[in-house]
Amino acid sequence: MSSILQASERQALLEASIRGELPDEHGRFGPFGGRYIPETLVPAFERLDAGIKAHLHEDSFQAEFRRELREWVGRPTALSFAPRLSERWGAKVWLKREDLAHTGAHKINNAIGQALLAKRLGAKRVIAETGAGQHGVASAAACARVGLPCSVYMGAVDIVRQAPNVDRMRRLGAEVVAVETGDKTLRAAIDEALRAWVSDPNGIYYILGSAVGAHPYPYLVRELQSVIGQEARQQMLDQAGCLPDAAFACVGGGSNAIGLFYPLLGDDIELIGVEAGGIGDGLGENAATLATGTPGVLQGTYTIILQDDDGQVQETQSISAGLDYSGVGPEHALLQAIGRVSYISASDNDALDALGELCETEGILTALETSHAYAAAREWAKSNPGKKILIGNSGRGDKDMPTLTKFPAKVRHYAGA
Ligand SMILES: *Cc1c(COP(=O)(O)O)cnc(C)c1O
Repeated sequence: MSSILQASERQALLEASIRGELPDEHGRFGPFGGRYIPETLVPAFERLDAGIKAHLHEDSFQAEFRRELREWVGRPTALSFAPRLSERWGAKVWLKREDLAHTGAHKINNAIGQALLAKRLGAKRVIAETGAGQHGVASAAACARVGLPCSVYMGAVDIVRQAPNVDRMRRLGAEVVAVETGDKTLRAAIDEALRAWVSDPNGIYYILGSAVGAHPYPYLVRELQSVIGQEARQQMLDQAGCLPDAAFACVGGGSNAIGLFYPLLGDDIELIGVEAGGIGDGLGENAATLATGTPGVLQGTYTIILQDDDGQVQETQSISAGLDYSGVGPEHALLQAIGRVSYISASDNDALDALGELCETEGILTALETSHAYAAAREWAKSNPGKKILIGNSGRGDKDMPTLTKFPAKVRHYAGA
């Protein structure tokens, strides 16, 4: 991929990224990003764009956002040194604990930020999409908090697969709308939410759940999630007295990863995004978009996607629902193309194995998504002994118990080690 940009262009784009100048006014991250949407959606996106310009970086909005993060989300989340894992890996490992945020993952940072923005823009109700249900739960909670009615679009297939989260959303006061079109999973849910938005762009605010889609969402979500990296950077300096040599985060759409990486772009830190390697390398057997995909347009943005030779978007496969997406945020496509972040994948089996090790050495049942970052970091530590590693622990794994129950724990492998 780096071949699509000259060396001098790569350097200029890296410097612009570090200075915070991307995306440009067209929502472009170098060649990626932008806004490829039907005419009917243009007014809604332009209204959102104007709303962000007016409010997002204004003092009173930021004060309210920071207060909600502190008093309701529970930030700053801890930075945990992991002594037993460090010993096993021959490294020094710190974990940024987004699992300790309200509702159990980083998604709440984005959801509450956008819910507050919806209030400022005078929205009468909120819509959101969800795949595994984590963003739906975060949006339902955030809407209850700010007092806005919330409808969550969810594929009919996912509604069956993720029944506990459907119930959580309803208890938090949200309406769950079953999407029977397309693949009846996340991609169809996003399409359907966009369709609903068109019907009333002034009254409805759409909370998109990751750093994907048309401009300004990748930018907005990054700005709201960057609190992860800002805190982690300061906590590393305060607690460890240094910055890490490398930082790892799992990548689905890319919101927790961009949140961790963005404030670290200007530092001498190796940044590594980890995608779902699924069950194999074949098309349709994984969700390793950046590692194996090609450029194309998906859901309004020009990015790297999984497609066949005819440009048909491919189905994906992963043990973790949150990584199961055939596209990725356009800023990650740029960071890969300029060589600032490398993207690799970890298989279902490696993720499961890393999850077991973390449970038994550190007492943290992490999410299956997050486990991919651990699996990759463990491999990296083998060839980079004695290094300092920061891992974005994007969420907790309680939601994954129905899946995990199918794979018996290997307690004796790690206990007392
Ligand atoms: C949704 C989710 C992810 C993947 O989403 P990103 O936008 O790539 O961060 C990762 N980890 C957890 C715990 C999630 O719930």
